[in-house]
Amino acid sequence: MLKASYPTDKFRNIPTPFYYYDMDVLRTTLHEITQQAAKSDFHVHYAMKANANPSILKEIRMAGLGADCVSGGEIQAAIDAGITSDKIVFAGVGKADWEINLALDHNIFCFNVESVPELEVINNLAGRKNKTAQVALRINPNVNAHTHHYITTGLNENKFGINMNELDTVIELLPSLEHITLIGIHFHIGSQITDMTSFQSLCVRVNEIQEYFFSRHIMLKHINVGGGLGVNYEHPNHFPVPDFEAYFKVFRQHLHLQPQQTLHFELGRSVVAQCGSLIARVLYVKQGATKQFAILDAGFTDLIRPTLYQAYHRIENLSSDEEEELYDVVGPICESSDTFAKACTLNKAHRGDLIALRSAGAYGEIMASQYNLRKLPKSYTSDELQR
Ligand SMILES: *Cc1c(COP(=O)(O)O)cnc(C)c1O
Repeated sequence: MLKASYPTDKFRNIPTPFYYYDMDVLRTTLHEITQQAAKSDFHVHYAMKANANPSILKEIRMAGLGADCVSGGEIQAAIDAGITSDKIVFAGVGKADWEINLALDHNIFCFNVESVPELEVINNLAGRKNKTAQVALRINPNVNAHTHHYITTGLNENKFGINMNELDTVIELLPSLEHITLIGIHFHIGSQITDMTSFQSLCVRVNEIQEYFFSRHIMLKHINVGGGLGVNYEHPNHFPVPDFEAYFKVFRQHLHLQPQQTLHFELGRSVVAQCGSLIARVLYVKQGATKQFAILDAGFTDLIRPTLYQAYHRIENLSSDEEEELYDVVGPICESSDTFAKACTLNKAHRGDLIALRSAGAYGEIMASQYNLRKLPKSYTSDELQR
């Protein structure tokens, strides 16, 4: 069992709140991904939006992953981290002209295009540079990911992707777009998906959609099935590394690839969630009328997932072995929604205790804000603190 262990003696001198990244957990995770993906020559692009901390990106680049970007800022961060542009894909429903131009200037591998007007704009901008952009059509497969409605993206009602009934129009338009080459199709059905049958349903849909292209004699070199693999937020100590073997196996078994086709993935959360913790201190233990509160110096400005998606994070008291008690664990921000957990079991808490909010490596630090004019949280890696 690979357990995230904390150098609490080192933590004592660091102002809280801060993010702590266990690089052993990250490296083990990356090793597992590359081992499992290599079995079938699958290509993995890391979804930058989960965490763009430079220390993390460096490790991901060294493992050989590409980058899945959703903004010009992310394209720049990927390039700054040394990820080569032939491994960069660019998705997003609202790509601005400057972002498309930046991507064109770097000759990125592929634009994942989400609408007809976007295709026309990319064609136009590429024409001005006398370039040809490689594109994949992001198709909305209308597959339910059975996850929180805020992070479901593959249903017809969502804003993402091109619907199946629009495909004829797109195919008819393509020959007139001289500065665009269609190289593939792209999907992404949602996030924190733990039920493998959702990915199986996606495979079945992709097979059907492939038939559509075959019947029109359109050769697609690349199939990109997006990301979305979930992590175990309840038991980060027992399941620090997601089951990538089972995940890739679903696609190996159910997706029909042509011999010349390459399969691409865009994993975000599953790569980085378990290596990160938000470390905070207890400011006050307050006795309420019916319950007690552990008031932390971290709030939703540091980790917004509980507030935004009612997400669960395991919370541990790193400073106390005393008997467990129930607490509502809350932050200092002037909003009632600034609550990390209700009726949470913690070893008896005191002012100054160090608290770890687990599995916070994905959609944690990167979503931090300065609301209430708070400072952005700093971050430390296990490598730095061991020195
Ligand atoms: C967010 C996103 C991902 C990554 O999702 P995870 O659930 O973090 O794996 C992949 N592809 C696209 C297009 C995305 O928007």
